[in-house]
Amino acid sequence: MYIRGWLTGLIVFLLAPSLLFASLWFYNKFENVSAIDRSLSGLSLVQALGPLIQEKAISGEISHAPPQLRQELSEFGGIDRSDYLNGLLVNFIEEEDVSKSLRKGRDLAIAIAQMGQLTTSGTYEGSKLPHLLNDMLLSVVIESTKMAENARKLSKRPVINVWDKMSIPVQGGQFKVAADGASRETSRNFGLLNGPQAEKLRQKAEQYRKANVEFQSNGAKLLSTTIKASTGKDITTEPVIAAHPMLVQATFMLWQGVLDYMNEDLQQQRTETVFAVSLAGIVGAIVILGAFGIAIALSRALADRTQREFEDLGFHDPMTGLPNRRALLRAIRKLPETSAEDKVGLIVFDLRQFKKINNQHGDRNGDSILRSVADQLATLAEPEDFLSRTSGSEFVLLRSNLKENEDFEQAAREIIEAISNERTVGELKVALEANAGLYIKQPGSPVTESMLIDATLALRSAKQKGPRQNDTFAPEMRTIFEKHNETAHELLDAIDAGNIVPWFQPQIDINTGTIIGAEALVRWIDKGNIRYPGSFLPAAEDAGYMELIEQIVRQQALALAADLTKRKKGQIHLGLNVSADLLGNREAADALHDNILKMGLKPSDFSLEILEAVMIDETASIPIKENIARLSELGFFIELDDFGTGHSSISSLRDLHVDRVKIDRSFISGVDKNPDLQKFTSALINLAKSLDISVLAEGVETAGEFNWLRRNGCDVVQGFLISKAIPVEQLMDMILQQDRQSAGHERELYQAMEA
Ligand code: C2E
Ligand code: CA
Ligand code: CA
Repeated sequence: MYIRGWLTGLIVFLLAPSLLFASLWFYNKFENVSAIDRSLSGLSLVQALGPLIQEKAISGEISHAPPQLRQELSEFGGIDRSDYLNGLLVNFIEEEDVSKSLRKGRDLAIAIAQMGQLTTSGTYEGSKLPHLLNDMLLSVVIESTKMAENARKLSKRPVINVWDKMSIPVQGGQFKVAADGASRETSRNFGLLNGPQAEKLRQKAEQYRKANVEFQSNGAKLLSTTIKASTGKDITTEPVIAAHPMLVQATFMLWQGVLDYMNEDLQQQRTETVFAVSLAGIVGAIVILGAFGIAIALSRALADRTQREFEDLGFHDPMTGLPNRRALLRAIRKLPETSAEDKVGLIVFDLRQFKKINNQHGDRNGDSILRSVADQLATLAEPEDFLSRTSGSEFVLLRSNLKENEDFEQAAREIIEAISNERTVGELKVALEANAGLYIKQPGSPVTESMLIDATLALRSAKQKGPRQNDTFAPEMRTIFEKHNETAHELLDAIDAGNIVPWFQPQIDINTGTIIGAEALVRWIDKGNIRYPGSFLPAAEDAGYMELIEQIVRQQALALAADLTKRKKGQIHLGLNVSADLLGNREAADALHDNILKMGLKPSDFSLEILEAVMIDETASIPIKENIARLSELGFFIELDDFGTGHSSISSLRDLHVDRVKIDRSFISGVDKNPDLQKFTSALINLAKSLDISVLAEGVETAGEFNWLRRNGCDVVQGFLISKAIPVEQLMDMILQQDRQSAGHERELYQAMEA
C-alpha cells in the first residue's frame, strides 16, 4: 500500500514539470482564444461602422445609426475607454462637415482595431490588413469625398483665385497618395494571401484599381480645367463627382472583402487554436491517465514482488539463511505426485543439551554455533537435498530421490559423527553431540506432512538411546507417543490428587545389617493399583513433568527425614534420584538446600543419586560437574547410580566428588554363580575402593549374592532380599523396630543368611 503511494508520488513528481508547462501552454492558448474573440468583436464593430461611413461619404449624412452600436462600443471599450469610443462615434455621426466626420469615423475604426489588437491576432500574412482596412481604404474614401466636395464647391464660385487653383492639386495629391498607397498595398499583400477568400479579394482589388483609375482620369480633367478656369463654370466637375460614388462603392467592396478575409482568418485561427487546445487536452489526459495506469501497473507489480519477497522471508530462517519449517512443509507439499512411487527420506538432526549451551555461553554464541552447524550440514548434504532449520537446534534434510535405505542411514550416521565434535566458534570451544531421527517413505505410500512428525518421533527414540544415536521411524513409536500423551494427561490429575508419592527401599550395612539409608522411589497410586516409574516416567520426561514429580518426592523425603530426626538418633541417608535438569539448574539445587536448612535438617542426611550416564555425559559435563562439586561442598552425599553401565574412568570418579557408587543390578544378579561376572564386579568394587569410595550393591535378591558381596568388600546392599520399596509408614516402623531389637537379633539374621 505504501509502495503504491510512493510510486504514484514519484510519477506525479516526474510529471509535475510537464504538467506545469502544459498548464502554461494551455493558459497561453486560452489567452490566444480570448484575444481572438476580442479581435472578432472589434471586427464586428468595424463592420457596423462601414455602411455608416459609406453612406456619409456618398450622401453626406447618416440616415439611421443602429441604436445598439453605442452599447456594443461601451462593452468593447470597457470602463476605461467606453467614453472615448462613444465620443468618437458621436462626433462621427453629428459632424456636419463630411470630411471631418469621415475622419472621426476613421479614427474610431482605427481605435477599435488597436484595442482589438487586430494586427497581432491574425496570421502573419494578414497582419497588414487592419492598416489597409481602417487607414488606407478609409483614407481613399475620405480624400476622394473631399475632392468631390471641393469640385462641387468650386463649380459654384463666380471667381476662381490662385488659392482655389492650388487647393485642387493639393487635395488631388493627398488623394493620390492614399489611393496609390492602397493600390500598392493590396497588390503587395494580397499576393501572400491564400484560400478562396484571397482570390475574391484579388478580384475586388482589381475592381477597386479600375475605379481608382477612372476617378483619377476624371480628377485629371478637374485639375487641368481648374488651373485654367476664371469662374466656377470653367471647371469640369461633373465626371469626378459622378465617378466618386463608384470609387467609394468599389473601395467599400474591397473594404468588405478585406474585413471578410480578416474575419475568416480569425475564425479559422480560433478554430485551430481551440482544436489544438482540445487535442492537447485529450493527448495530455491520455498521457496522464497512461502514466497513472503505468504507475498503477508498476506499483501493483512492485507490490506483488514485495509480497513475494515478504513471503520468501516467511520461508527463511534469517539466522542461518536456511529455509525454515514452513518452507520444508511447502517443499514436502510440492513434491510431485509421482513421488508416491519413489522413496522419500527425511532426517531430523538435533543437538543434545543445546539449551544448556545457549544458557551457558549466551544467545549470540549459541547463534554462531548453530550457524557453523548449518554451514557444515550444507556441505555434507547432497546437492538435491532440501536442507532446513526447523526450530532451535533442529535441522531437517529432505531427500526426494532416495535409492537405498542403507545408504540413507549411513549418510545420517556420517553426518552425526561429523557434527558431534569439539569445535571452535570464535573464541569459544564447545563439544557438540547430535542425534538423528529418520523417516523413509516406501514406494506406494503417500507423501504427507506427517512424515516430519514421524521423523521427529524417531529422533525422540534416538535421543533416549543416548548421544550420537540415530533411529528410523517405526509405527510403534507413534503408539508410544500417543500413549505417553495420554499418560502425561492422567499424570497431571494424579499429581493434583496427591496420588504421586515416594516409597522407600531400605539400604543396610552389609556387615552389621543396620538400616543406614533408604532410596526414595516414586509410585503412582492408581485406584488402589501401584504403578511403577517405568510405566510413567518416560511420559513425564516427554511432557516435562519430571521436576514436578521430583519436587513431590523430595518434599516428602524431607518430611520423612524431619520425622526420623525427631524419633531416632542414628543417621539415615535418604537417597534422592536427581535428574540432569536439577543438576543443570543452580536455582533448583539452591532451593533444595534452603528447604533442608529451613526444616532444621542437614544436607548430609541426603544422598543425591546421579546416573553414571548423566555424570559422565561429555556435553553436559561442565555445568553439571560444577554443580555436583557445589552440592558436595554443601554437604550432600553424592552417589553414582547404575555404576558400571556408563564406563566411568578413575579420573572422572575422582573429579566428581563421588562418595558412593551404586553397582548396577546387572553386575549383581547371579554374581555368586558366574565367575566371568565376578571378574567385572570385583573390578568395579576395587576401582571404587582404590579411590576410597563406598560401594553399594543394587538389586540384591539372594543370600548367595549377599554373601559374595560381603566377601568381596561391598559396604551396603539394597534389594528385594532386604525389602522392596515400601510406603513411608512401613519404613518408619521398620526403623523403629530395628532400634528396639538387640544386636543379638541382628546376629541371628546374619547367621540365617550365611547358612
Ligand atoms: P533406580 O534408581 O536404579 O532404582 C532402583 C530400581 O530397582 C527401582 O525400580 C527398584 O524398585 C528396583 N529394585 C530394587 N531392588 C531390586 C531387586 O532386588 N530386584 C529387582 N528386580 N529390582 C529391584 P523402580 O522403583 O521401578 O524405579 C525405576 C527407576 O525409576 C529407578 O531406577 C530410577 O532411575 C527411577 N526413579 C524412581 N523414582 C525416581 C525419582 O523420584 N526421580 C528420578 N529421577 N528417578 C526416579
Ligand atoms: Ca537410584
Ligand atoms: Ca540404579
